[in-house]
Amino acid sequence: MWSYEHNGFSVHQIPALRDNFIYLIATDEVLACVDPAEAAPVVAACRQLGRKLTHILNTHHHNDHTGGNLELKARYACMVAGAAHDALRIPGIDLHLSQGIDLRIGDLALQVLDIPGHTTGHIAFVCGEGDDTALFCGDTIFGAGCGRLFEGTPAQMWHSLEKLMRLPDSTRFYCAHEYTLNNLEFCLARISQSDAVKAYSTWCKDRLDKGIPSIPGTLGREKQCNPMLLPADEAFRINYAKLHGIGEDAVSVYTHIREARNHW
Ligand SMILES: [Zn+2]
Repeated sequence: MWSYEHNGFSVHQIPALRDNFIYLIATDEVLACVDPAEAAPVVAACRQLGRKLTHILNTHHHNDHTGGNLELKARYACMVAGAAHDALRIPGIDLHLSQGIDLRIGDLALQVLDIPGHTTGHIAFVCGEGDDTALFCGDTIFGAGCGRLFEGTPAQMWHSLEKLMRLPDSTRFYCAHEYTLNNLEFCLARISQSDAVKAYSTWCKDRLDKGIPSIPGTLGREKQCNPMLLPADEAFRINYAKLHGIGEDAVSVYTHIREARNHW
């Protein structure tokens, strides 16, 4: 388990399954679990912290994000919060969320964002503010990548990514998988060999060699290096469109890069 301090809350990162991360958001009053892929490592982490789980927060319905819901709810009698849109697909759901309904649980305030694309009911949770923002984005932004489009359209996903890019550059993003190195290899091979991407790759290899996750990173670095976010940069977009003979608009460029990644 790795732990990160923010103003008024801390985040504990728990590895699970093959490459998932489960998070605990801890305040004096609340211990909320984001995307419990499975129950056992969460129970072990609660024991280590000497605390009981008060809430489960699901970013989307996939089993590797909700697999521990029912067992944890039975054990701790905790509340389960997830997207209203996916109420029928989220086990044990009590609180139905969507953008505009901000969540205050005890001394923890969470902003909810609708970010469809990976699934149609995907949401994100934002904690803290300004330079001390934490983003829980599930399978939407990964280190140097983004989630696959299982249910949504490329345009939906692009607009969701744009929404997340409006958060401050210093935002630490806590995504649900360690895919960064593989994503960077794709980026270097197919999209960009900028100094920033090379530096990110060196940093990532070094972290993983030491047994430390590459997540959380910052949104600022993703804006510079993440091939799925690069279409926001006009110069990149124009060059890429020319090279591949496609439209210069961000959705066309994003769609082309997402497709290239699917077949890489
Ligand atoms: Zn998923």
